[in-house]
Amino acid sequence: MEDLDYYKILEVEKTASADEIKKAYRRIAIKYHPDRNPGDKEAEEKFKQAAEAYEVLSDENKRAQYDRFGKAGLGGAGGFGAGGMDLNDIFTHFGSIFEDLGIGGFGGGFSSGFGGRGGKPVHRGSDLRLKVTLNLDEIQTGVTKKFKVRKDVACPECGGSGCESGHHPETCPECGGRGFVIRTRKSFFGMMQSQEACPRCGGEGEVITHKCKKCSGEGVIKGEEIVEVNIPAGVAEGMVVTVRGKGNVGRRAGIAGDIQLLISEEEHPLFVRDDNDLIYNLLLTVPQATLGDTIDIPTLGNGKARIKIEPGTQPGTALILRGKGLPSVQGYGNSIGDIIVNISVYIPEKLSDEERKFYEKQKEVSPEPNCSESVKKRIFDSFKNYFRK
Ligand SMILES: [Zn+2]
Ligand SMILES: [Zn+2]
Repeated sequence: MEDLDYYKILEVEKTASADEIKKAYRRIAIKYHPDRNPGDKEAEEKFKQAAEAYEVLSDENKRAQYDRFGKAGLGGAGGFGAGGMDLNDIFTHFGSIFEDLGIGGFGGGFSSGFGGRGGKPVHRGSDLRLKVTLNLDEIQTGVTKKFKVRKDVACPECGGSGCESGHHPETCPECGGRGFVIRTRKSFFGMMQSQEACPRCGGEGEVITHKCKKCSGEGVIKGEEIVEVNIPAGVAEGMVVTVRGKGNVGRRAGIAGDIQLLISEEEHPLFVRDDNDLIYNLLLTVPQATLGDTIDIPTLGNGKARIKIEPGTQPGTALILRGKGLPSVQGYGNSIGDIIVNISVYIPEKLSDEERKFYEKQKEVSPEPNCSESVKKRIFDSFKNYFRK
């Protein structure tokens, strides 16, 4: 699929409201609807692109991720995944958008809420939401986490069919497998016909005459699964990693929902994160800042990096350790952040007698800062810039 901007696909502004996005999607989906463009591959492609764009932009969280990080922010699988979504999936997801317009269905039965695959209704299980807290070391390298997930799994007794062994679902005798019935009634305007979900099969087109005893015909039971999730490097607080097909299994051999894993970030004792950079505060003594020094700065993963403090280093100076920060999340930019060392100078709060004599002597030598006007201006400028940030 061509890699287009989701806003461009839907022909809306970045500031578009949820309602505008919905309207735009509807307009484009109608235009390229497969029923209106039979056999037109280009229209089908546009129809799919619009659905992908809408899936992301109609979801407040996904839209925020997309705005911040692009498609990469959707965890690589946040859209419709690498394989894309087929038309039935689209109708399963967004069928209700078309319903009130009375547009013809596709594949039979999307209006009843099922994606008709080969005529047989398919139920999609619901998504599961999990949360994980990561520390910066894990975020720097990326990490695989295991979760014991309690969820709907396929019934082991009937394999998900919902039928007792030796039996199969049967075509609903009431609706003949169509899932709906036509009701005709007399009214003031004459005979009126309306289409209703079949009361016998609930719209599924099939009935189970001999229900599996373990799952009562549902095809799913509560179970547990250990799910491994690969979390890419560079993720940030509030991002969501989507794991396709690991959520609740749908009823009666349906398709599984997803796992939505919300990322939370543990506060680090030494670093403050700023996007992909890490800020480290280095506290120097007055003599260290005055005379200069060489110091080892901690890095993530229990490493260290040496920096040189020049003689006469002012508090508020920022020194940069290139490439020691965090990587960008999956392919979004390929830069690695830095560690930014902010220099602070510790002014002694308690003095020994010896120190007191030293500082008193210093005070006599330099009753006020002994520097040129240009140095004073430079320090003032950096102070001004600090407040302008
Ligand atoms: Zn029926
Ligand atoms: Zn069963």
